[in-house]
Amino acid sequence: MFKVLSTVLVIFLSTFALAEAKNACNIVVVTTGGTIASRYDPITKGLLPADTGEQLLEAVPQLKDLDCKITIQKFSQIDSSSMTPLLMKKLGDTVEGLLAKKDITGVVITHGTDTVEESSYFLDLFIKSKKPVVFTASMRGAGDLSPDGPKNIYDAIRTVASPYAYDKGVMVVINEEIHAAREVTKMHTANVATFASPYWGAIGYVEPDRVMFRRQPINRQNIKPKEIVEDVYLIKAFTGMNSDIFDYLAAKKVKGVVIEGFGRGNLPDTAAAGVKKMLDAGVVVILTTRVPTGRVLDTYSAPGAGRPLKEMGAILAGEISGQKARIKLMLALGVTKKKKEIEKYFDDIGR
Ligand code: ASP
Repeated sequence: MFKVLSTVLVIFLSTFALAEAKNACNIVVVTTGGTIASRYDPITKGLLPADTGEQLLEAVPQLKDLDCKITIQKFSQIDSSSMTPLLMKKLGDTVEGLLAKKDITGVVITHGTDTVEESSYFLDLFIKSKKPVVFTASMRGAGDLSPDGPKNIYDAIRTVASPYAYDKGVMVVINEEIHAAREVTKMHTANVATFASPYWGAIGYVEPDRVMFRRQPINRQNIKPKEIVEDVYLIKAFTGMNSDIFDYLAAKKVKGVVIEGFGRGNLPDTAAAGVKKMLDAGVVVILTTRVPTGRVLDTYSAPGAGRPLKEMGAILAGEISGQKARIKLMLALGVTKKKKEIEKYFDDIGR
């Protein structure tokens, strides 16, 4: 009798354990739109977001062979050129809510390539959880010849499912490469190999038999305001630039301005007075560079150069791009208005 009972118990427990194992990998795919979901629309004669999350996953029959429960959550159906900082915040709250559930392994987000480097960096700063969050996208529409979306979705899901994906920060997986959100940028308007992390390179790649991580992004920052400050502009330096645009932004009393200067972080001398006006008006000014890699530094001392701009009160952004510096400033301004504290977020020593 005891033998029979213990056999029944063992069968019951192992069935339970199997069911547990089956659900050990539990991934949510959050869809936002983008080319990955787009098809040619004969009326408007261009690509428009069309496919549902279910259709996106149906195009990847290989997912059935993964030992993973996959559910879909629609967030939006937009071209990512219409993604806004407020939507990014809402997306961050949504993803955080999912990651807080004990049984969720991680989240994949399908997104347009145009602004995925901004949304992913926003979430990288905003989300505290160390569970994997992977953005993916595509350059070819869902109905195009040889679309790249299905493979990218497959690779993104496999990356989240990888036991090594924990604590890597938010990632972008596309064209078989894994990039850190902080470093990734779009390099080509049409080629499927458009994403790169200039100077640093990908943190890993996706092989047919495994997901390979080769670098660990270090010193991840967390900036978590209740509300973000959207009133932040991004201005690029150009030869012959004067102060007009800065005078306008000073008069408008915008909350923040990120300037992509030349080289180490320099502007024409003719633009310096405008920067001063903005600072006097209480605008937070962040100085970065229009050069794709390297830090800005107060090396030069002509009137429009980094040194006098810093002395006036501009904050040097380290080595992040203008668009990423803007994301960081919108979050930082939501936490504090104090220049010293904002400066700390941009201090790249050890980051
Ligand atoms: N315009 C598209 C978007 O960003 C481009 C893409 O997804 O590849 O939504």
